[in-house]
Amino acid sequence: MVHDRSLVVGLGSNLGSREAFLRAALDLLAHRHGVTVDAHSPRYETAPVGPAQPRYINAAARVRSALAPEELLAAMLDVERRLGRERRERWGARTLDLDLLWIDGTVVDTPSLTVPHPELLRREFALRPLLDVAPEAVDPRDGAPLAPALAALTPDASMMARALADGFETEILDHTADEGFVTVADDRADLFAAAAEALGALIVDPASVHIRTEVPLAITVDAEAGDDERMFAWLSEALYVLDAKRVALRRAVVLDDGPTHVRGVLFGDALDESTHAVRSALKAITWHTLDVGPRPDGRWRAQVVVDV
Ligand code: ADP
Ligand code: MG
Repeated sequence: MVHDRSLVVGLGSNLGSREAFLRAALDLLAHRHGVTVDAHSPRYETAPVGPAQPRYINAAARVRSALAPEELLAAMLDVERRLGRERRERWGARTLDLDLLWIDGTVVDTPSLTVPHPELLRREFALRPLLDVAPEAVDPRDGAPLAPALAALTPDASMMARALADGFETEILDHTADEGFVTVADDRADLFAAAAEALGALIVDPASVHIRTEVPLAITVDAEAGDDERMFAWLSEALYVLDAKRVALRRAVVLDDGPTHVRGVLFGDALDESTHAVRSALKAITWHTLDVGPRPDGRWRAQVVVDV
């Protein structure tokens, strides 16, 4: 009988809907046979290492797995390939980076895998979230607890813990004859991802959906278009794609969010009424009640009502 190893995976994203990428990565990992995700840290916004690039969101997940370390790395690289398609250069900006930070009681040193991760003790953005999910972790090389190593690091003043540990805040509106939601996210790219997920959740309960398929989603708008118009076009297209391709949605990500376009991917499964918990049939996004924009605290909010 193979015993589960306890380990910590570090996650990072600095392109597109950064939080949505982390959430989708955790789903894809958790849906792997032989991998259980037990907990995840808060997410931290951090300054990049290497060439000039946008700020990262970093987090860590506590995982149990009977897979050998190399098999686990292969599974992680597979998730990176599915979600990190925008990677351009080593150390450069990417939609998703997954690192095997630490495995309880195990040292690995091969050409393709080094565990503990070689930079773990030098990088606050890796060590801090690791200790959030594994405060008792020790260095397998010498048995020394890792917690004092964090205290010994020069604090990174640019590192900011974000308030939300559990992701987007979405509230379903059910006081009208129609359906709708209010969702709040870190920035505009994440708001578009969160809104697509909330729309999908009105149609099929995402808890009943495993990711087996992906569908691109893209819109273009005039440069003068406001955020209401962009959101209207984005969600109308999402509604059309989910309906026309008969897809049950689990996750949505935004790859690129420019002045005249939004480009992303919907992740889900071929709709199957015998296994998916279908909720309602939606007709159209209603324009007059749509309200999208930044809040005074800098987070972004969308209110959406849908005709049923
Ligand atoms: P970085 O994460 O340092 O920005 P990359 O993600 O581009 O760099 O590097 C990925 C490669 O690093 C993988 O192909 C893998 O073989 C190697 N690697 C070695 N040790 C680890 C580890 N502990 N976790 C993840 N990748 C590792
Ligand atoms: Mg990596």
